[in-house]
Amino acid sequence: MWYMNEEREQLAKMAHDFAESEIRPFVREMEEHDAFPTEIIRKAGELGLIALMFPEQIGGMGPKWVESGLMLEEFGKVSNCVANAFASIHAGCALILQTGNADLIQKVVIPAMMGTVVTASAQSEPTGGTRLDDFTCTASVENSEIVINGGKIFCTNAGHADYYTINCKTKEPYAAPFGNHTLVLVEKDTPGFKVGHIENKIGWHGSSTGQLYFNNCRVPMSNIIATFDMDEKMVAAGAFSVSILMGAAALGTAEGVFEKALAYAKERKHGDESIYDKYQAMRHRFAELKMEIELLRGLVYGVLADLDNGNYNVNIPAVAAKVKGAEICEHVASECIALCGGNGTIVENDFERYLRDAKMNCTAGMSVHHLTDMIADWLR
Ligand SMILES: Cc1cc2nc3c(=O)[nH]c(=O)nc-3n(C[C@H](O)[C@H](O)[C@H](O)COP(=O)(O)OP(=O)(O)OC[C@H]3O[C@@H](n4cnc5c(N)ncnc54)[C@H](O)[C@@H]3O)c2cc1C
Repeated sequence: MWYMNEEREQLAKMAHDFAESEIRPFVREMEEHDAFPTEIIRKAGELGLIALMFPEQIGGMGPKWVESGLMLEEFGKVSNCVANAFASIHAGCALILQTGNADLIQKVVIPAMMGTVVTASAQSEPTGGTRLDDFTCTASVENSEIVINGGKIFCTNAGHADYYTINCKTKEPYAAPFGNHTLVLVEKDTPGFKVGHIENKIGWHGSSTGQLYFNNCRVPMSNIIATFDMDEKMVAAGAFSVSILMGAAALGTAEGVFEKALAYAKERKHGDESIYDKYQAMRHRFAELKMEIELLRGLVYGVLADLDNGNYNVNIPAVAAKVKGAEICEHVASECIALCGGNGTIVENDFERYLRDAKMNCTAGMSVHHLTDMIADWLR
């Protein structure tokens, strides 16, 4: 591939070996007991894999975008859920990094990069993930402390995170220098903060998605990550990094289920021949799916290479990688189930997990319709 070199081949092999030895044996545990991949995250941190997504200035190895994509692609081949857990580590730290608060970088971002703490980013409320004006979770200032009241829903890593980044509406009257939103860090076990119901989802078992409650929860002013006048445009501007990482994970998931189904079709006999050799219609369906995967690969690595070259003007293709990644990996997984006949539908054969996990990509990290609407807006 045009974006590969010897160093990247080695990195991809390392990520592949890690996925096979650390992630694959844990998949059943995640499926059956909703087990959280704490140990996988810790080991990836220890090996320096998470550091690929973080800048050298804070002890990271990059950000190396193509390498980060290769890692998430390899993880996604085995588990879309685990691959996205790594994308959400990046999302949980991105705003702290962007605002450059040295104390919070030391306290949160560096340990997250080393895999020793888990972060979460809570924005969504019952009124909708990005309907910022409707947020009811508020932050106010009392006695030189931030006081948080309200709740959040659908927070990834709820109950497992050590640190939560909470997007609050600044309570009227705005106290200078606050804008209409205050982004604040809350540590687990802070009095007044409670994790509520953990959702039972169709896919991404092992990724905990839950509700958060704040009842006069007080944190020091030093926990303020940022205060700003936030609107949908700001949300959109931040969408590209998580979108492209989710696109890379979706690429891996499409490849993972494709390879598994192809191997099955080459092995399954009708008479003396494999179903792959016997039926031209089947070979063409595999060829069509392969073309979709290669289209997605071109898009994902084109954006990642642009980012490595310092071109951050990639909002549309990055968001497209997430939207098309969600579509393609769901389509590939669904077709692969059909191509494997009855055995494709058996839970133990592990095709249907790819489809259920693929479906999660259409909503988590902003809905594909909303992202498409954002692209339409950029085209105005
Ligand atoms: C597994 C999972 C993990 C998540 N993790 C997090 C997290 O860590 N932090 C966090 O803050 N949030 C998280 N979310 C929330 C997620 O971002 C929201 O679910 C998503 O933004 C959609 O919001 P909503 O559920 O309120 O649906 P709604 O916004 O009510 O959407 C309902 C329908 O309207 C469509 N729609 C919405 N807006 C538009 C638009 N502008 N144009 C066209 N159609 C539109 C949607 O596509 C959908 O079909 C997570 C969600 C899931 C499922």
